[in-house]
Amino acid sequence: MESIAAKPLPDITDLTRPFWTAAREGRLVMQKCPSCGTVNFHPKPWCIECGDRGLEWTEMQTGGTVYSYTVSHSVAMNHLGWQAELPVIMCLIDIDGGARMYAQVTDVAAEDMQIGMRVKAYFEPISEEAGIPKFRPA
Ligand SMILES: [Zn+2]
Repeated sequence: MESIAAKPLPDITDLTRPFWTAAREGRLVMQKCPSCGTVNFHPKPWCIECGDRGLEWTEMQTGGTVYSYTVSHSVAMNHLGWQAELPVIMCLIDIDGGARMYAQVTDVAAEDMQIGMRVKAYFEPISEEAGIPKFRPA
C-alpha cells in the first residue's frame, strides 16, 4: 500500500528487532521479566521494576483497552505519508496481561472513540523485516 510505504520506517536496533519481526509474523511480543513478572514496554535492556537484565520476549494477547487517545488532523503529518489516513487516531492501549503501548486505532470514526473501548490488534507489514501492530474496535 503506497500510503504505508511512504511513511518513515522505524529505526530497528538489536534491542527492538524482536518486536518488529514478530509483528511482521502477526504476533505481538513484549519483554517479560522472569524475576518479578513485569511486562516491559518499550523494549528495554533491563526490567523497569527490579532491574533484572534477563528479560524474555513473550507473546502477548492481542486484545486491549483504550487508556487514552488523541486525534491528529495535523498538516505536518502529511509530510510523513499519513495524508490518506487523516484524521489519525493515536492511542495508549493497555494490552490484556501486558503493558501499556502507543498505537494507531483504525476502522472507527474519531467521534466514536471512547476511553475504555475494547480493541484488538492486527498487523501490517511495513518492510521485508518489520510489521507494525495496529488496533481496531473489538
Ligand atoms: Zn522485574
